[in-house]
Amino acid sequence: MGVVLLALGGTISVPGDSRGARLSGAEITAAVLDLADLGVGVEARDVHAVPSGSLTFAQVLDVVEIAARAVTEGADGVVVTQGTDTLEETAFLADLVWPHDAPLALTGAMRQPAMAGADGPANVLAAVRVATAREARGAGALVVFNDEVHAARWVRKTHSTSTAAFASPSAGPLGHVVEGRVRMLLAPPRHEPLSAEVDRERLAAARVALHVVALDDDGAQLQGLDRTHRGLVVAGFGVGHVPGALASRLGTLAEHMPVVLTSRTGSGSVLRHTYSAPGSETDLRRRGLIDGGFLDPYKARVLLRLLLAAGAARADIVEAFASRG
Ligand code: ASP
Repeated sequence: MGVVLLALGGTISVPGDSRGARLSGAEITAAVLDLADLGVGVEARDVHAVPSGSLTFAQVLDVVEIAARAVTEGADGVVVTQGTDTLEETAFLADLVWPHDAPLALTGAMRQPAMAGADGPANVLAAVRVATAREARGAGALVVFNDEVHAARWVRKTHSTSTAAFASPSAGPLGHVVEGRVRMLLAPPRHEPLSAEVDRERLAAARVALHVVALDDDGAQLQGLDRTHRGLVVAGFGVGHVPGALASRLGTLAEHMPVVLTSRTGSGSVLRHTYSAPGSETDLRRRGLIDGGFLDPYKARVLLRLLLAAGAARADIVEAFASRG
């Protein structure tokens, strides 16, 4: 049946010329001149035309539902076009609940369509190739950008303007699109999908804060957090450390809500039992913080919020981070 393309907004849809209005999914698709040679039918649908920084969890889950239905109805795969700013988070959220073997390929653009060397058409073409590639089946949600294929689980936006803005610092790309052929080099570990049927009110209430630790941080921002939030992700120094003076405040919070420890470095995992000073990973785990493993702070926040919205008990949350972190 071909591919369903769901358009969400972002730079790929901002014409950047006198046209003014956002481009529709059909217009984005029409600009991909080589698509006709592929012989793949692309049915474009417009979903939420907003900058990706304004997307909500609920909207992303809606998109996954539409995409999943399209596959159930016969689509070979689905392409989502959106802004790049939150692509690393939306792709991971989609990946956590994606129920099919058919690829869900997310992409966007760093240059507006009217700019010289606009990258949107090439990214869409590569994403359509990935969405229909037998090699990409079973790999979950994938970010296709600059002819690279990244696992939603690992991908980061690592540059604010470059057309090579996406990288997977801890793992590398899973594959490449070379001479129009999708070459998958690695298969990401897959887990049972979590339920996408999340009660919207519970989702709205499942607020998860993100605290990035910094030099001489006294944690004043965390004051009263247990009254406004249901969970916290800490982006700690290096292997998962915080100033010693912050440790007891985090431990107290961990008595009231799940607090997940991650690294602010951008790649690698937190440790579990190598250092023991106050504020070290061993100390924080002893105080009840949950080890985020290799999950970066943004992805840990996505997982924790989805679990809390689903009403997961603490033991389930610990288990989820142990297996997916
Ligand atoms: N601010 C835009 C967005 O994320 C950037 C982009 O699309 O690249 O919606």
